[in-house]
Amino acid sequence: MPFKRNVYDTAVYREPTPIQDRENPFQSMVERFDVAAEILELNPGFYEYLSRPTRVHVTSVPVMMDDGRMKVYEGYRVIHNNVLGPSKGGIRYAPDVTLNEVKALAAWMTWKCAVVDVPFGGAKGGVVCDPKAMSPDELERLTRRYTANLMDVFGPDRDIPAPDMNTNEQIMAWVLDTYSMHARRTENAVVTGKPVELGGSKGRREATGRGVMTVTLAAMDRLGLSPSECTVAVQGFGNVGSIGARLLSEQGCTITAVSDISGGYYNADGLNINEMMDYAKAHDGSLEGYPHADPITNEELLTLDVDVLVPAAKEDQITESVARATQAKIIAEGANGPTTPAADPILREKGVLVVPDILANAGGVTVSYFEWVQDRQGYFWTLDRVNRRLDRIMRRAFDRVYETAQEHDVSLRIGAYVMAIRKVADALQMRGIYA
Ligand code: NAD
Repeated sequence: MPFKRNVYDTAVYREPTPIQDRENPFQSMVERFDVAAEILELNPGFYEYLSRPTRVHVTSVPVMMDDGRMKVYEGYRVIHNNVLGPSKGGIRYAPDVTLNEVKALAAWMTWKCAVVDVPFGGAKGGVVCDPKAMSPDELERLTRRYTANLMDVFGPDRDIPAPDMNTNEQIMAWVLDTYSMHARRTENAVVTGKPVELGGSKGRREATGRGVMTVTLAAMDRLGLSPSECTVAVQGFGNVGSIGARLLSEQGCTITAVSDISGGYYNADGLNINEMMDYAKAHDGSLEGYPHADPITNEELLTLDVDVLVPAAKEDQITESVARATQAKIIAEGANGPTTPAADPILREKGVLVVPDILANAGGVTVSYFEWVQDRQGYFWTLDRVNRRLDRIMRRAFDRVYETAQEHDVSLRIGAYVMAIRKVADALQMRGIYA
């Protein structure tokens, strides 16, 4: 009997990554870690332990494509640390995901959870694929096989995934279902960022953007600015960027520019963010062709004459040259790692108040924590309760980071690292090293 499909007609999916154009994100993390570790006079053993991941999983993910061919994708799951609790972190699908990037993102999750006082460690996952070129069925098969391969890694008490770039509630629902099928019980606390109908939390979808809004307002307070006098540019119009832009405009800010992968959109009188969100929804998530704005490049967006810049797309966008040219007074990092280490001192020298990623975008993991708590209790909160608690945690974290930075005369970024590393190192000290 012939094979139903020609499974030997295989291909490993990998698009060329322009390495020379990319900073090493893990190195970016370590450079900041080093500065904070020195301030803390971190013991050398702890330094070694906390500056590297606890576990790295690389897994081959074979997928039957719709045309009957099999492709093999490369998947990663990195557990940076689980001293404070089960590890937590999103899964990213993108053609240029690298293991180094996932390692950096996992470490940032450790520090982020510590900054907002959430009892989780840090992890991150990724699959090298081009989700835009895949059908929903192919994405489902990829997600299910990736989850099955990591069955022994994931778990509500072990490691809890969530959405990140190009992954969403539907993908989390497939993770939940696949894990539950293998576990022989419905285990909704194994993943967060899932649909509310499956045990997701109200307010999770908006949580990262809401956190960005809260810390931006807190930064404005410190600089004596009021939202109604502030103009804002937002790079990236996905989950974080679009919701952050919408909430800031609701607070009275004028959003003069946003961008996505298709380019930038500018209107000096202010963009209508709700209309743009509807437009993107109707155009497969893209703003391409949006009529009520002038086209600008992404580079132009980053250096526009605005009070607040919100990078909410990807790493390494604010380079040295962008840092020199930027006119923003506040940079609120919605994305993870959007500023290169070399840009940091330039921004500090210019007096730009940078609210770092591990603080600014921690709203997502905070409500993920709420979601996990609700799943485990089997008792679900109102949206108002979620938002009030989120706002309180973000505001408190901002104030504590600000005070730590003042105390050591460092940037908010280094202040946040100092706070986070101290918390994890203290916990490690109490637990001791098992040998
Ligand atoms: P998303 O996939 O929903 O959106 C990403 C957006 O960035 C899209 O609009 C895309 O077109 C745009 N983009 C991609 N490359 C770009 C480029 N070169 N220039 C301009 N725009 C570009 O992703 P997201 O969930 O909004 O995540 C964005 C960033 O925020 C990532 O760094 C992610 O790690 C971080 N983050 C997300 C969450 C969350 O809850 N979703 C939480 C914390 C941090």
